[in-house]
Amino acid sequence: MHTILANKAGFCSGVKRAVDMARDCFTDDRKWYTLGPLVHNQAVIDYLHAYGIDSVDSLGDIKDIPAGIIIRSHGVTPSVISDADTLGLIVKDATCPLVKQVHEIVASLSEKYDIVVFGDRDHPEVQALIGWCDEQAIVVNDPDQICDLQISAKMAVVSQTTKDEKKFERVVDALKSKCPELRVFNTICPATRLRQKAARDLCSQVDVMLVIGDSKSSNTATLYKECLDTGVNTYQIQSSGDIDIKWFRDAAKVGITAGASTPDWIIKEVVERMTEMENNQAETGKQAEAENVVQDPVQENIEGQQEESFAKMEAEMADFATPSKGDILTGRVIQVLDDEVMVDVGGKSEGIIPQREMSLKDIDSCKDLVKVGDEIEVLVLKWDDDGTILLSKKKVDSQKVLDSLEEYYKEGKTIDGTVTDSVKGGLLVDVGIVAFLPASHVEDGYARNLEEYIGRVLNFKIIEFNRNKRRGSQVVLSRKDLVAEEKNKLKKSFWENIEEGQTRTGKIKRLVDYGAFIDLGGYEGLLHVSEMDHRRIDHPSDIMNEGDEVEVYILGLDREKERVSLSRKKLLKSPWQNFVEKYNEGDVIEGTVVRTAPFGAFVELDPGVDGLVHISQLANRRIEKPEDVVSINEKVMVKILSIDPDEKRVGLSIRALIEDQEKEEVEEYLDQQEGE
Ligand code: SF4
Repeated sequence: MHTILANKAGFCSGVKRAVDMARDCFTDDRKWYTLGPLVHNQAVIDYLHAYGIDSVDSLGDIKDIPAGIIIRSHGVTPSVISDADTLGLIVKDATCPLVKQVHEIVASLSEKYDIVVFGDRDHPEVQALIGWCDEQAIVVNDPDQICDLQISAKMAVVSQTTKDEKKFERVVDALKSKCPELRVFNTICPATRLRQKAARDLCSQVDVMLVIGDSKSSNTATLYKECLDTGVNTYQIQSSGDIDIKWFRDAAKVGITAGASTPDWIIKEVVERMTEMENNQAETGKQAEAENVVQDPVQENIEGQQEESFAKMEAEMADFATPSKGDILTGRVIQVLDDEVMVDVGGKSEGIIPQREMSLKDIDSCKDLVKVGDEIEVLVLKWDDDGTILLSKKKVDSQKVLDSLEEYYKEGKTIDGTVTDSVKGGLLVDVGIVAFLPASHVEDGYARNLEEYIGRVLNFKIIEFNRNKRRGSQVVLSRKDLVAEEKNKLKKSFWENIEEGQTRTGKIKRLVDYGAFIDLGGYEGLLHVSEMDHRRIDHPSDIMNEGDEVEVYILGLDREKERVSLSRKKLLKSPWQNFVEKYNEGDVIEGTVVRTAPFGAFVELDPGVDGLVHISQLANRRIEKPEDVVSINEKVMVKILSIDPDEKRVGLSIRALIEDQEKEEVEEYLDQQEGE
């Protein structure tokens, strides 16, 4: 006896993907469920149960929330996903990508076309599919049912992915003869078709066929029927234990195939059992030689098929699938107007990108962005009545930006962005898309004036990323920690490099009654009011403003308490130095009487420099007290009699001026007399 395994058999890629996704949950601490059996195969269900993954019929059966729910390859209605969200369940969506494609087709067409689904109404895939077109689809399971249908002007027909292709063609023919505008989507999965074809081909070479699969599996049942229809003796088994040796009494060749929900370990067991029987036959001499027995690399054969199958399936689907809403296509620009761009996306129809869908930024003309011949990626938004496809380049760009932002988010990398506007509660930042920066994350403390950030390019961390968020921003930013980190770095470097006696330039951050806090680039020091100037300052705001730059002297450091005291006065020339440089003994200058004493009057000559006019020098006659000749705040001319820089004393005289003047007058009089 010779056993041959069909070249397409067992797990399809969609089911394999779902089982792999479930396997990923084995190590997760959460309790996981599948919504309905993950596949129609009891062995797989038992296997998952052994790892704590159980099946529930509805979300309401889950009591131990938080838990996780795995959506099987058949998919679910959109409402199931939103209900799971509402219940706080973690969703792992293992819907087969090809099934998802059918969801998208019906969702995009259901507004304008009446949807016909060829399938079994009770099959979970069909039940989910109907939910994607607002429960409005007409389900037919037999071409004969078309006669009784109410036919409308615009209809679109799809198929359950595991249905019989010939029957589907009959459904389509029946509809075509009645419906004026029929759109046909052959959504029968290539995996099913290829398994059926491989099984039929094998039937022509063998005497007996074994079809491995669960009794509840729809595609196994179809496969079984396909084999039976060829006239070959066919048996459906669930495992190697179901094999009956009597079936092969007169058989020279036995074929094996398996449904898309049959795991490879069950196929392997069956093949091994058959190989065992062949070997026994050989030993007993019933068959001299087992020629072309299935080789042991059955496992490799199966795995190889699975790896290849997905790519092939997708390629085949691409041949017949019209671009659906949400598809991303590469097209060539064939016409550019100011307000729209026409793109050849490879189908029968052209696609149009309106100006508003060209770019994430405002543009004056589409001509600024693309030219004829450019290849661009576009997303299908919808179909227009005339068959034109409405496209968006902006959405593809946005997805790319989101992809890159997601990477930044996951890897914790920082990103530059431009603050574009202030809104309630924070700022808007352009990071390729518009992101939100909450006010509390602008600085490491309170940010007083958000407006002053507009237009600035800053560095941010992404603290929230939600690609699917419909309201609010998908990306939330923060620079709070970055600012704090930078400050810490600067502070560290500040304390490493600062020394008493240094001169630094700083920015005045805050003025208070007793002084000013100066930002020295990483740390703030206090410039006390008494250290601001040689003059007496009533309030710091008399001589400086917040935001001004100021040169300061490092007067003292307390490294333990991290305090820095500053002086500006130290860097200014003293009034005495200035005075000594400007004036000499004998100079006559103006001053202001600032106070009096019994022995004379003090006259301010320069800010901070007072001189004394002794009472004997106040007038050219004897006076009782200074107030007899001068009063406070009176401007007076004085002659400098002496300057003592060490004692910081200046001796002044008003009398000397009077005497000088008298002398001058006498001399003038004498000069006149001589001249007469
Ligand atoms: S049979 Fe096809 S459509 Fe269905 S799960 Fe498998 S790969 Fe996906």
